[in-house]
Amino acid sequence: MEENCEHLDLMKPVEAHTNGCEECLKMGDRWVHLRLCLECGHVGCCDSSKNKHATKHFHATQHPIIKSFEPGEDWGWCYIDEVEFDPGDNAVFGAEVDNLPRRNYRQHQH
Ligand SMILES: [Zn+2]
Ligand SMILES: [Zn+2]
Ligand SMILES: [Zn+2]
Repeated sequence: MEENCEHLDLMKPVEAHTNGCEECLKMGDRWVHLRLCLECGHVGCCDSSKNKHATKHFHATQHPIIKSFEPGEDWGWCYIDEVEFDPGDNAVFGAEVDNLPRRNYRQHQH
């Protein structure tokens, strides 16, 4: 089977909204691992966490591209094709955003 994901074009230089799962923080709940949405910067908890907010975020927004938000982990995942990919230099957040082209950056400012 050929692993061919067309969604990597959706990936943007996002800035993480929060340092923990956005919804769990609001609920005062806990998580196991964190996933960063590479389309909007939403941080959600993984499927090993009881609330699975990263997957819920995908179902709610149709943002299929995430990467691990765990220190030292550098892999991405497409929920639609269920393939792993290397997020490489496109997937940066925080202070590093300033080093990237400004494509789509403005519309992230609320
Ligand atoms: Zn895909
Ligand atoms: Zn959560
Ligand atoms: Zn998103």
